[in-house]
Amino acid sequence: MLKAEATIPTTAGLSYVAAVCARLAQSDFDARAEAGRGRVALVDDLGTGTLEAAPDRLHVRLESRTEQGLSVLKFLLSAQIEEVAAAEHPEVVWSGDGCDSADLPSLREMTVRRVADVTPHVRRITLTGQDLVRFEGDSLHVRLLFPPEGVHPPEWPKPGKNGRPVWPPEDRRPVQRVYTIRRIDASAGELDIDFVLHAAPGIASGWAAGARPGAVIGLMGPGGREVRPAAHVLLAGDETAIPAMARILARLPEDTAGQVLIEVEDEREVQSLAHPAGITLLWLFRRGREPGRNDLLADAVMSAPLPEHGDVFCWLGAEEAIARRIRSYWREEKGLDRARCLAVGYWKHALTLDEGG
Ligand SMILES: Cc1cc2nc3c(=O)[nH]c(=O)nc-3n(C[C@H](O)[C@H](O)[C@H](O)COP(=O)(O)OP(=O)(O)OC[C@H]3O[C@@H](n4cnc5c(N)ncnc54)[C@H](O)[C@@H]3O)c2cc1C
Repeated sequence: MLKAEATIPTTAGLSYVAAVCARLAQSDFDARAEAGRGRVALVDDLGTGTLEAAPDRLHVRLESRTEQGLSVLKFLLSAQIEEVAAAEHPEVVWSGDGCDSADLPSLREMTVRRVADVTPHVRRITLTGQDLVRFEGDSLHVRLLFPPEGVHPPEWPKPGKNGRPVWPPEDRRPVQRVYTIRRIDASAGELDIDFVLHAAPGIASGWAAGARPGAVIGLMGPGGREVRPAAHVLLAGDETAIPAMARILARLPEDTAGQVLIEVEDEREVQSLAHPAGITLLWLFRRGREPGRNDLLADAVMSAPLPEHGDVFCWLGAEEAIARRIRSYWREEKGLDRARCLAVGYWKHALTLDEGG
């Protein structure tokens, strides 16, 4: 078992324990506080954090089976403590396992091995790097780090004493974007990311459009937990969510029933996705309508039948406004609680001149 601890001098430990646990419970963590003692558990018994309030201090102990679990706990608890105790400017300094490491355990430097077009608007980039085992689990998403042009060698974030990354100065700081691991083979030291080449290229899609073998980017993570088991699943998303939906589908038990709704430009963007026999796939074609500003996906989601038995899980990944709309539809109109639905904004229409003035 890996361990770390921190002591924060304060007389307000009791209220901090309660506040940290309440905030984490709200964000779907298993977190409970009682009589000045709090316990925060990561999923799958990956690790626990114990907070104990004494009259003059708050003591935090972390335990995890994995380096990753310990670093998540360090990050999570120092971020929460620093926020709830902001008025005191507490310094959370961890001691114990992994605290002397010069590199973030969540960071890998990756090199482009192959570039291939999956469809006219989806480019698959195979990245190679060392020690990828931690990226093989249930968490599908990673942060990709793109170094600014001209910064050679790239500069990556380093671990701070509080377990949170310390980033290079602004002019050398890599830009981050969230992507999904479409395929991973840790034993071969490689993974695939499918980049949507959207019409107004940003840092990530622009990089993917021009990427050549040998190019270097950073990878941080993994994170995210997407789907809870259910007899019936409804998955919906645009092309940015195809990698996540493909991986979710591949892991569903064979007897799962349900529907998948996928919005893409046209027939040329259709991909072959393995899925349980009881799940139907419906491709929705935009045919020139603007991505993220049409009703195709939302209308299809709102017309999708859900069984009466209630053993359902609904998931969506799409433009932020669509995700907001569907989240409130599922929660308020269909009465699904947080455990039964998840709608995530995968990208956001930028504040362009015509909107922002
Ligand atoms: C959990 C998660 C997983 C994701 N997985 C993937 C993935 O596997 N593959 C993938 O391609 N994307 C994925 N995304 C979405 C991706 O992070 C965004 O599309 C991101 O904005 C792309 O960055 P960029 O630098 O290319 O563009 P940005 O600099 O962010 O944006 C530049 C311009 O492009 C517009 N834009 C951004 N994305 C799109 C789009 N998809 N369609 C149309 N216009 C767009 C913006 O509104 C802006 O005007 C994921 C997002 C999340 C939150």
